[in-house]
Amino acid sequence: MDDPWDLVVVGGGPAGAATALGALSAAPRLRVLLLDRAGFPRDKACGDGVSPEAADVLAALGVPALLDDWAPVRRLELVHGSRRVSRPMQRAVRVVPRAVLDDRLVTAAVTAGARLERHRVRAVRTLRDVVTVDDAFTARVVVGADGVYSVVRRAAGVPDVRRRAIALRGYVATPQPWAGRQVIAFDPGRRQAYAWCFDRGDGLANVGYGAFGTDGLTRAVLLRRLGELLPGADDGTGWRGHHLPLSSWRWPHPDGRLLLAGDAAGLVNPMTGEGIHYAVATGALAGRAAAAAVTARRPEAAGERYRTAVRALLGPHLRHSALAARLSAVPAVLAAGIVASEADQRVFDDLVRLGLGSGRLTRRVVAGLARALTVR
Ligand SMILES: Cc1cc2nc3c(=O)[nH]c(=O)nc-3n(C[C@H](O)[C@H](O)[C@H](O)COP(=O)(O)OP(=O)(O)OC[C@H]3O[C@@H](n4cnc5c(N)ncnc54)[C@H](O)[C@@H]3O)c2cc1C
Repeated sequence: MDDPWDLVVVGGGPAGAATALGALSAAPRLRVLLLDRAGFPRDKACGDGVSPEAADVLAALGVPALLDDWAPVRRLELVHGSRRVSRPMQRAVRVVPRAVLDDRLVTAAVTAGARLERHRVRAVRTLRDVVTVDDAFTARVVVGADGVYSVVRRAAGVPDVRRRAIALRGYVATPQPWAGRQVIAFDPGRRQAYAWCFDRGDGLANVGYGAFGTDGLTRAVLLRRLGELLPGADDGTGWRGHHLPLSSWRWPHPDGRLLLAGDAAGLVNPMTGEGIHYAVATGALAGRAAAAAVTARRPEAAGERYRTAVRALLGPHLRHSALAARLSAVPAVLAAGIVASEADQRVFDDLVRLGLGSGRLTRRVVAGLARALTVR
């Protein structure tokens, strides 16, 4: 084995690419190795919705306008049984296939100076002065951005995320009534489950069905519920499913040289299933924490630096979204959220920020819910 890498990043999804970009924007001469078991471009099961806050993080990492050639989607429609709200969002979302998004991000990381290698990581061990990766690479710091089944998470001794969702997505020619919008149809027959149709703006829409929990949710069940909630959406192709590790009230993270970002860190919004914003935001922080710790010749301090930074950025939001997820599991509260959003654009905007970014459960939302629940 040669000299240790300053930073080895396991996984080249949004969290991993953002980690490399964060590290290299803080310390451009850092030696950064990005490992992924897949060759890029590669597909990934996802709704492909990239929130404006995710785009803000990417711009701050030196990749502005990365998705500007994709159509902005400005309208969001929420349906729950007979209740419906359809409103413009304050800021547009972009629906971009992951084969495109992740490839562009990895390319940006390589342009910034990272070395990309195709390699499936199986074992990570922390020794006194370095971390070894499969006895093939050594590093001062390793960031696990290797998704929901993270090998690095296991090596760091962090237990698996218990609260998971499962979701299946495909693509259809965009049905005309759903053009130019993101449509979410909550499942009245199951708590915390919804079907979606997200128009990409290029003639195709990303469609899917996701449910919190995993029991009995076979591919056939997910497809059937999708077709029942959004008729025709189940006629798609390219079906692909995946687990989502849902964030909770507490966000544990160990000290030391092993850091976890994105899905590997158990960060998916428990109310909506959004994970790309968390992935790039925590990736950027992990990269910066690793760069600062290595530059200060204290790589073992990277974990503590990172945990402090993530809690400062996302701590209150994670608590609010955990509470909101519990509340929205009650059908009457979910219905009240739709009624309150229909009554007041500002309540709608606050809920969008809570579900897609780092917003909080505002007084306005609580008051709107209380009003809708009392006048039912
Ligand atoms: C069906 C579905 C719909 C979703 N819709 C949305 C949405 O619309 N918007 C949104 O924001 N989020 C959505 N999410 C969540 C989002 O997809 C994830 O939160 C996001 O991909 C997390 O990024 P990541 O970089 O942490 O992990 P990933 O994107 O999973 O990337 C992990 C990378 O690590 C690599 N890897 C894994 N193991 C190893 C190993 N052992 N060695 C080397 N490489 C390895 C993989 O090949 C992969 O490239 C959805 C998820 C699902 C399943």
